[in-house]
Amino acid sequence: MDTKNLTGIKLLIVEDDLSSRLYLNKILEKTGATLLNAGDGQEAIDISMDNPDIDIILMDIQLPVLDGYSSAKKIREFRNNIIIIAQTAYGLSGDMENILSSGFDDYIIKPIYSNQLIEKLIGFLPEK
Ligand SMILES: [Mg+2]
Repeated sequence: MDTKNLTGIKLLIVEDDLSSRLYLNKILEKTGATLLNAGDGQEAIDISMDNPDIDIILMDIQLPVLDGYSSAKKIREFRNNIIIIAQTAYGLSGDMENILSSGFDDYIIKPIYSNQLIEKLIGFLPEK
């Protein structure tokens, strides 16, 4: 996979599990994207408010303070066109339907693989 293929993209990683967050950062820092991090739902909302130039949010569903569903909904209230991709644990049946009817653009199932994630993100970039 080519590196630096997300240069110019600002991405917010929302994940409460520290090792998962470090893993996502490690994968994504190779892409050239600018990375921001939040550890809970409220922090995700605050960072999104402070950074109106975020392009994509990678949102964990199970989060402290405010879960991924509620957080995505609140962020949509002031960032209508932002891309929000849910990260969900494997095997939580019912999640997929809920996710797509809750205003997420897409989802990715954990464990998250580097190439799969990067390809999905690239798929959301505007055509050049
Ligand atoms: Mg979590």
